[in-house]
Amino acid sequence: MRLSALPAFEDNFIWVLRDANRSLLVDPGEAAPVLAAADAGLVPSAILLTHHHPDHVGGVPELLRRWPGLPVFAPDDARIALDCERVGDGDRLRLLDRDVQVLAVPGHTSNHLAYVVEDHLFCGDTLFSLGCGRMFEGTPEQMLHSLQRLAALPGQTRVCCGHEYTLANAAFAREVEPGNAALAARGAEVARLRAAGEATLPSTIASERDCNPFLRCDAQEVLSSVGRRLGHTPADAVEAFATLRAWKDTFRA
Ligand SMILES: [Zn+2]
Repeated sequence: MRLSALPAFEDNFIWVLRDANRSLLVDPGEAAPVLAAADAGLVPSAILLTHHHPDHVGGVPELLRRWPGLPVFAPDDARIALDCERVGDGDRLRLLDRDVQVLAVPGHTSNHLAYVVEDHLFCGDTLFSLGCGRMFEGTPEQMLHSLQRLAALPGQTRVCCGHEYTLANAAFAREVEPGNAALAARGAEVARLRAAGEATLPSTIASERDCNPFLRCDAQEVLSSVGRRLGHTPADAVEAFATLRAWKDTFRA
């Protein structure tokens, strides 16, 4: 299988996973990049949607006009007003002759899903490289649990998230954990890639476990930074995570 990303809008990615002659599309927020890729030979065989936000689902109606009957898999969320197959936690699909595992990862939205296809994780706006999504609908407890489920995937799993936010996320991560050598190295790599106009994704679960502060709420330096922010030692991982997320919401590099 071959993975590629079609840039959309300012900083979205439409992920494409293809075998010899078919492909899966993830979160086509707009149709134009997909239609341009189709002119160059892309043949979609299914669409996977992670959550209802327009920058993730907006291109689907136009794609269905171009490819009527193209299967679309989506969370059971009335805000996705499309003719599609509803899927949920624990479901297994068979696409491109491969197993596709569906995980519920609420927090950014209440019905957010992630999909695992062999060693590819399509996680929408839940886990970002060096960061995580904003909690628009979920609680810190839910979001932390969702991130912990993703962090438990095999280390080599390629993290295919919805946005190129890594450079800004790196600045915050280094504020939280200035002594993390793996993070310093990843930050330098990210700066170099962005300066060259290249994507920082996919990342890997192993790299995120080493570098992403939101997956490191039990690391000593993260706890110290959060404790200074709070004025006391966080009572548990949920309080540490909630503090970190709220801190990031107001952080300016
Ligand atoms: Zn979103």
